Amino acid sequence: MAEGGAADAETQRGEIATLLKTPLRRADTWYLVDSRWFKQWKKYVGFDSWDKYQMGDQNVYPGPVDNSGLLTDGDVLGLKQHLIDELDYMLLPADGWNKLLSWYGLREGQQPIARKVVEQGMFVKHCKVEVYLTELKLCEDSNMENVVTRRFSKADTIDSIEQEMRKLFSIPDEKETRLWNRYMSNTFEPLNKPDSTIQDAGLYQGQVLVIEQKNEDGTWPRGSSALNMKSSSYSLPSYPPYSSSSYECSDPGRRAERAGLCGLSNLGNTCFMNSATQCLSNIPPLTEYFLKDQHQDELNQDNLLGMKGEIAKAYAELIKQLWSGKCSYVTPRPFKTQVGQFAPQFSGYQQQDSHELLAFLLDGLHEDLNRIRKKPYIQLMDADGRPDKVVAEEAWENHIKRNDSIIVDIFHGLFKSTLVCPECSKISVTFDPFCYLTLPLPTRKERSLEVYLVWLDPLAKPTQYKLTVPKVGCISDLCASLSALSGVPAEKMVVTDIYNHRFHRIFSSNENLSSIMDRDDIYVFEVAVSRLEDTQHVLIPVHLREKYKQSGFNHTSTPLFGQPFLLSVPRSVSEDKLYNLLLLRLWYLLARLTAHTLLPHHRSNRLSHTSHNPLHVTLMPYDLTYLHFLKSHCSSISDFDKHESMEYKPQKKSFFKLKDCIELFTTKEKLGADDPWYCPDCKQHQQATKKLDLWSVPPVLVVHLKRFSYSRYMRDKLDSLVDFPLRDLDMSEFLINPSAGPSRYDLIAVSNHYGGMGGGHYTAYAKNKEDQKWYNFDDSSVSPSSEEQTVSKAAYVLFYQRQDTVKGTGYFSLDLQAPDGDEASAGAQSEEDLNDNQPEEELGPSRDVSMSSS
Ligand SMILES: [Zn+2]
Repeated sequence: MAEGGAADAETQRGEIATLLKTPLRRADTWYLVDSRWFKQWKKYVGFDSWDKYQMGDQNVYPGPVDNSGLLTDGDVLGLKQHLIDELDYMLLPADGWNKLLSWYGLREGQQPIARKVVEQGMFVKHCKVEVYLTELKLCEDSNMENVVTRRFSKADTIDSIEQEMRKLFSIPDEKETRLWNRYMSNTFEPLNKPDSTIQDAGLYQGQVLVIEQKNEDGTWPRGSSALNMKSSSYSLPSYPPYSSSSYECSDPGRRAERAGLCGLSNLGNTCFMNSATQCLSNIPPLTEYFLKDQHQDELNQDNLLGMKGEIAKAYAELIKQLWSGKCSYVTPRPFKTQVGQFAPQFSGYQQQDSHELLAFLLDGLHEDLNRIRKKPYIQLMDADGRPDKVVAEEAWENHIKRNDSIIVDIFHGLFKSTLVCPECSKISVTFDPFCYLTLPLPTRKERSLEVYLVWLDPLAKPTQYKLTVPKVGCISDLCASLSALSGVPAEKMVVTDIYNHRFHRIFSSNENLSSIMDRDDIYVFEVAVSRLEDTQHVLIPVHLREKYKQSGFNHTSTPLFGQPFLLSVPRSVSEDKLYNLLLLRLWYLLARLTAHTLLPHHRSNRLSHTSHNPLHVTLMPYDLTYLHFLKSHCSSISDFDKHESMEYKPQKKSFFKLKDCIELFTTKEKLGADDPWYCPDCKQHQQATKKLDLWSVPPVLVVHLKRFSYSRYMRDKLDSLVDFPLRDLDMSEFLINPSAGPSRYDLIAVSNHYGGMGGGHYTAYAKNKEDQKWYNFDDSSVSPSSEEQTVSKAAYVLFYQRQDTVKGTGYFSLDLQAPDGDEASAGAQSEEDLNDNQPEEELGPSRDVSMSSS
């Protein structure tokens, strides 16, 4: 009864296993459980199938549910950032949580971490437990200085927030109120759909909400004229009226906004769309094409692969608004509607992804504007040993026969892929067009790990070390690294993970280092004898447990305290001897903690064996007084020395160059077992080696940094800094085409992602084509930024323009037809490399086949 509460291990196992399979249903409540506690519970009840006897381990009673590892210090409800599902925490449905609580209770001072299931996704809905709540900043219209932060679920409605705010600001029941979204640009948007959720309304982390009380005379402090609201602020079924075919423009009275410097308001998790759109809007040749109505002549409304021209029309309309110079921001509702209508292919996790949307948009615009009305059938031919130049030209010509649009003109390049069969050495070469490059991020091959070394000398304080170990290594690598710093032979080390006063794990030397998380408390014990050679001694893990009668309850409690330790004893040791060895060790421990030298008494000893392992040693009353003394000093057990390695800064190379990523992209790799290649010669799937090379690069190079990785157990974001150049990115060293032509690029836009997986916020940095200055586009707000800010850990999609294609170089036909007169011609014409690109009468994409022009 003392441990385990009601149900036996088998019942617990069965019930939790069933409940873990509960499907996610919108608005259900689930609970977070620290996976360390959960793992110990699993061990205790023998949950995992590899525990074939399903006996469980009665020695690892997990104690009350303990979520302290998930919480930020000093905040019972504040979760640590960047926790990962199944790695840091487990999710349990309410029934499962209640069962665990009834069996184990919750650690004192903690509150259940309850989270709602919300639907995510703009295009295809899927359910997800909302682990991170949205923090909103709340204030009153009459006093916007007094901002109160509260956390809400994305499933909470505007109405419930309003109720909360009325309570918070003690607004009398009879008072009528309205809610507003306040943007950084100090513009306001009414929140007048009480039933819409935080998610529908597009409120994001840190959004400021303002509550406004109706004046005594029936007017509103913020006025109501433009909003056409009836007496009840909630009588309208939707937002203020707007025409579905035109764009709502803020502050129409305000003039002299700069062209292109126009925000896009957030329509409900649409910051990813806004970010991608602002990047595209700042690609000069594309925007000029739409501003000059070139798309009108090229609309392809019959293309089955396209969107009947609707995407192109909606996009053109939006671009015209953004560049009208009349608005500080517009509401891109018609555009969002078009995107939503044609985007059922968005599903899974990618739907919140600015890059996925960009890929969809470029594709949609391309098909809507495809100059090819009837795509010819083309028989693909094998390279068959023919020269690259011939095969590349053929591939590009085939591509152009079916795909010819402004998007192809601006964004499409060509790469070569070479596959080699490991069995028959068959080589397959193909050339494929690309619209953007997805670059892998190099991952660090080493990690640093902090460990405590517990010396053999019981009087020596443990020492904390910072070790550098291979990411893909094993425990013996850790020991070798620690040995080099400490002088203790690696074979005299035992590596353990101590959690909750007990040995959570004792590692064997061939276990993988990847099973150690950064937050684990790793203690390495120096032991007297080599683990490998000595067979005369055994290592005994010793836990310190105090036994006392719990007042008011009919059972005894035996909580653990202090730090467990390892004791090396001869294989054939008498009980007396063992008792004395233990006692001696405790004395030493006490001596170290109190800095007193106490000598052990010699007493008659007794060991009490309980029916099963492990051995329980009950101290004699006289020794017990010392034990209590020891316990009262255990709080100072954190007393340790720091080795100088703790001062080491992480290695210099904490960032990568963009070129490292491109190099990695072109590095030969072996295909995975789950992603094999069908070898036409062997007639079966093979794990071929694959190599990618760049053949030709487009006027605008879109570079997607692969920060997100999705797998069954890990959904992770790499937030390494990638150092990319603002100007003069030279791609020539990566091009295998000897006559590829100009290939120097300048950065023109960046799509940024802040925060972790499944949430976060997107913004964009872009260079305005009129004043050549950088701006930060954050939904409806646009503010000046600097070049220095542009390179950050948030950078996600990069947009580079080739130097020979900028305005004035005459690269695009548009540029020729209507020279704007400003910074055009003369100067820029002297650029090198230009002779190869003298514009022809009609600038078809064939000029991109620079390989054919030489
Ligand atoms: Zn083969």
